[in-house]
Amino acid sequence: MKSVFDKKNSCYGCSSCTQVCPTEAISFLQDNEGFFYPEIDQSKCIDCGMCRKACPIFKEFKAVEENYPEIHAVWNKDESVRKSSTSGGVFSALARNILSQGGVVFGAVFDDDIKVIHEGVYAPEHLYRLQGSKYTQSLIGECYKEVRSLLKENKKVLFSGTPCQVSGLYAYLGKSNDNLYTCDCVCHGVPSPGVFELYKQHLQKTNKSEIQSFKFRNKLKGWKNYNVSVAFKNGTDVHTNFKEDPYMIGFIKNMYLRPSCHECKYASVQRQADITLADFWGVEKYNPQLDDDKGTSLILANSPKGARLLEACKEELVIHKADLQAAVRENPSLTGPASPNRQRSKFFKHMPETDFEALHKRFLMPPSKAQLLWRKCLRIPGKLIKIVLGKNKQ
Ligand SMILES: Cc1cc2nc3c(=O)[nH]c(=O)nc-3n(C[C@H](O)[C@H](O)[C@H](O)COP(=O)(O)OP(=O)(O)OC[C@H]3O[C@@H](n4cnc5c(N)ncnc54)[C@H](O)[C@@H]3O)c2cc1C
Repeated sequence: MKSVFDKKNSCYGCSSCTQVCPTEAISFLQDNEGFFYPEIDQSKCIDCGMCRKACPIFKEFKAVEENYPEIHAVWNKDESVRKSSTSGGVFSALARNILSQGGVVFGAVFDDDIKVIHEGVYAPEHLYRLQGSKYTQSLIGECYKEVRSLLKENKKVLFSGTPCQVSGLYAYLGKSNDNLYTCDCVCHGVPSPGVFELYKQHLQKTNKSEIQSFKFRNKLKGWKNYNVSVAFKNGTDVHTNFKEDPYMIGFIKNMYLRPSCHECKYASVQRQADITLADFWGVEKYNPQLDDDKGTSLILANSPKGARLLEACKEELVIHKADLQAAVRENPSLTGPASPNRQRSKFFKHMPETDFEALHKRFLMPPSKAQLLWRKCLRIPGKLIKIVLGKNKQ
C-alpha cells in the first residue's frame, strides 16, 4: 500500500480520490491519531491519475467575485428551529427551500453508533438529523457519487460541509452545475474521530450506559454559554458547560485537530461555497439589537447564486446587513488557520497507551482560578497602552 500523496499531512480527508478511483484501489484507513487517510493498493492501481485530478489540493483556488461576499446577521423566525440549531438556524431555511423544490440536502449526521458521517436527506421530516454542529471530522463515504447521480437526473442539490469537503466535491465533479448549491461553515478545524470515540467510551463507562444521543451545542443556558448534552440509554441526561467539557476544551485548545487544518488554505474570506455559515461571535458589541442570546448567524453570500438562495428564504428569516470588519473581528478562522497546541504531539504519543481519564487530567483540564487571574494580569499592560495611546490621539 502507498499513499495518494507524497506529503500525508496536506490531505484534508475528503475522500474524493477514493470515490473517483475506477478500480476501487483506494481505501480510507484510520491512522494512529484517529484520522482517515487514503491508501492505494498497488496491485489494483492502473496509474490513471484520476485520484490526483480529483484532489482539491491540486486544484486552483477560485476567488470570490467582485462585490462579494455580502455579509449579513441572520436568524430563523421559527423559535423551535433556532433553538435546535447551532447559531441562527439559517442552514435549516436553506435546506427546506431546496427540499420544497424536490431537491436533496447533504450534511453531517450521527449514525446509530454516534459516529459522524455525511448523508443525503430527501424529506423535511428527516432534516433534524443534519441540524447542529458535530465537532469531529465527518466521513463523506459515497456522498459525492450520490450528488453526481442526482445532478444527472436534473435534481437540485444542497451540499453542506466544511470548506475542504465542499472543495473536494467541486474537484470530484470537475465542472459547475446550475442545480448544485453549496454551503460551508467557517471552520476552526476538525477534531480526530478517534479522540471522539475515546471520549464516548469514557462517558459510557462513567455513566454505566450506552449513549442514546449527543448534542455538542445545547442552548439550555443560551447561545453563548452553551452546554454539551449527552443522553444515555439508562435515562441519564448529562449537561456540561462547554468550558468544563474536556473534549470541547481540547477542541478549542487545538489539541487534536487534523494536521491539514493547521495549514488550511480555506481559512479566509475567499470562500469556495455559495454560502458560508457561522456564529456571529461578538455581535453584541457590533450591534446589541442583533443579539438576544438565542443565536445569531453570520452569513456570507459568496456568489450571486448564494445571494439568490438566501433571498428566496427571506420570509423565514430575519436578515440584517453587516460588514466584513465586524465579521472577521471575533472569528479568527476567517483570516487564517489555527496553530497546533504545543502539546499536540505529546497528547498523541500518550493516546495509545492510556485512557481518556488520564489524557483529561494531563492535557484537558479547564484553567484554574489562579491561571485565569494570571491571564487577566498579563492583559493589563496592553490595556494601559491602549488607554494612553487613545488619550494621546485626542
Ligand atoms: C467542525 C466545525 C468547526 C466550526 N468552527 C466554527 C468557527 O470557528 N467559527 C464559527 O463562527 N463557526 C464555526 N462552525 C460553524 C457553526 O458551528 C455552525 O455550524 C454554523 O453557525 C451554522 O449554524 P446554523 O444554526 O445555521 O445551522 P445548524 O443546524 O447548526 O447547521 C449545521 C450544519 O453544519 C453541518 N455540519 C455539522 N457538523 C459537521 C461536520 N462535522 N462536518 C461538516 N459539516 C457539519 C451540518 O451538515 C449542517 O449543514 C464550525 C462548524 C463545524 C462543524
